[in-house]
Amino acid sequence: LRQALTAVSIARKAGHTWLEYQPEIEPNADDLRLLKEFHEHGMRDFYLVYQPKLDLSSEQITGVEVLLRWNHPTLGLIAPTKFIPLFEESGLIKQVTRWVIRQTVASMQRHQLCQRGLHVSVNVSTRDLTEAGFVSFVKQAVQGIDAHCLQFEITETGLIDDSERALEVLTQLSELGIKCAVDDFGTGNSSISYLSKFPVAELKLDRSYVFDINNNDRNLKIVKSSIDLAHALGLKVTAEGVEDFAAITLLKQLGCEKAQGYVIARPLAEHDFIALVNSPFQW
Ligand code: C2E
Ligand code: CA
Ligand code: CA
Ligand code: CA
Repeated sequence: LRQALTAVSIARKAGHTWLEYQPEIEPNADDLRLLKEFHEHGMRDFYLVYQPKLDLSSEQITGVEVLLRWNHPTLGLIAPTKFIPLFEESGLIKQVTRWVIRQTVASMQRHQLCQRGLHVSVNVSTRDLTEAGFVSFVKQAVQGIDAHCLQFEITETGLIDDSERALEVLTQLSELGIKCAVDDFGTGNSSISYLSKFPVAELKLDRSYVFDINNNDRNLKIVKSSIDLAHALGLKVTAEGVEDFAAITLLKQLGCEKAQGYVIARPLAEHDFIALVNSPFQW
């Protein structure tokens, strides 16, 4: 802990503003350890995995979500639910997101994902959206690809913080051809207000509502009315966390456009994802 604290304070003194905490945040020993590791090795132990999205009418894989993994040599695999909030709080998310976007674009070029008609989604935090240079960074990053193939999934928590700025940024992104989705719909603060305020093209239903729709009538009703609401507003819907075939059938009946989840595929290593989309029998 002492070492970690020293690393953080050295970094601060050295002017690494990205390690500055918000005053209200009290990192614990684990968090400090992770920050210290990140400070020493940057993105060295990070890689991306690819979770396919199934188009429910064509039953083809037409998209993929990129998810970040941190496999530390001694700490092992660290869950994104642990490190993403830490990076958001400490301001590190900005450089992490930029890394993810650069890697994603490189992978899209390497495997000609646009040319194959695949849409690729990156998770973007609301902190990224309101960061000063974000749009110009993205503009630069997408130069080698058709920007229409790239999409952002925005986690709703915090979107409201600076809604004027967020509106401006989302508008600029859509002018670049990049569509945005509201992620984790149904969790967090006030999902519906985002739908009325922001130019988003897609809604992602959180898996906490989706996974048991066959046995849970309340969740089924929530899913059904969320789909209807999205459609009334002209949005497409992706259901995440689909774990069985019966749920796929039901979602299809409800008019949901796309599905994602373990029954289709787990998040895959890059070469496994490419092998899957190359195979004639996709799922
Ligand atoms: P998310 O955006 O809601 O991503 C979906 C999560 O559900 C992923 O967890 C995925 O592995 C998991 N999942 C997918 N299908 C199923 C299923 O059928 N059943 C169950 N039980 N789980 C399923 P993961 O990869 O651990 O990511 C957790 C969260 O961390 C993500 O939630 C996202 O909010 C965040 N995250 C991951 N990668 C990034 C990133 O590159 N940037 C940012 N900002 N956030 C990221
Ligand atoms: Ca997501
Ligand atoms: Ca999310
Ligand atoms: Ca989710």
